[in-house]
Amino acid sequence: MIKKDQLYEGKAKKVFQTANPELLIVSYKDDATAFNGLKKGTISGKGAINNRMSNLLMQRLQESGIPTHFVAELNARETLVKRVSIVPLEVVIRNIAAGSFSKRYGVEEGRIFPTPTIEFSYKNDALGDPLMAESHATALNLATPAEIECIKSYSFAINDILKAFWLKCGITLVDFKLEFGRLADGSIVLADEISPDTCRLWDTKTGEKLDKDRFRRDLGGAEDAYAEVMNRLTSHI
Ligand code: UDP
Repeated sequence: MIKKDQLYEGKAKKVFQTANPELLIVSYKDDATAFNGLKKGTISGKGAINNRMSNLLMQRLQESGIPTHFVAELNARETLVKRVSIVPLEVVIRNIAAGSFSKRYGVEEGRIFPTPTIEFSYKNDALGDPLMAESHATALNLATPAEIECIKSYSFAINDILKAFWLKCGITLVDFKLEFGRLADGSIVLADEISPDTCRLWDTKTGEKLDKDRFRRDLGGAEDAYAEVMNRLTSHI
């Protein structure tokens, strides 16, 4: 499949058109940003790792009955995906308190929840992706109530599948962000990526952070952490 015009360049990926209007090519970059783009840097090798990891996990989810945008991995950095119209909601599932949750409610990072939580943010860079109640999302026609129900049930199912998988790798899935899109027929599929950029992954034994928090919090060793997660994934998938 040949890349045509660039459609969009985001913080971590570029998106290209193809000869087929229903298919796009996503190209993963090594660029890393945090705090709504205020902090910028590079995690060398990240693009290729996130591409591979996201594809392997999406295929695993697909086999478990979760529809995704994945079509085919083209090369180290590039993947063919179904064109979707993105639902402008970021969905965050949490199993353990961390990050903005800990800050907002003043609870220590690491507190395990009795059941997973779900929250939505309005995907809008200019507004800083504010948290959004479900009824506000439907009030603004960002998604229908039926679409939100579908997104919620997929998100919790994805959590069950990913949590169990990462556990086999000696990794605790703390929290993660998902994005969904609509295909031309209106059906909802998982889109965007699943990677250490979008998940908090802690070593189950040591509690060591193996994700983008190494970059966000200047902990060092982000490259090694991403490579470690990738190694564990490929030996267990
Ligand atoms: N996350 C993301 N993109 C965002 C915001 C959050 O991928 O724009 C992921 C983040 O990596 C973490 C989870 O969503 O795994 C929850 O993030 P949180 O709300 O705690 O925000 P943060 O502390 O990252 O600002």
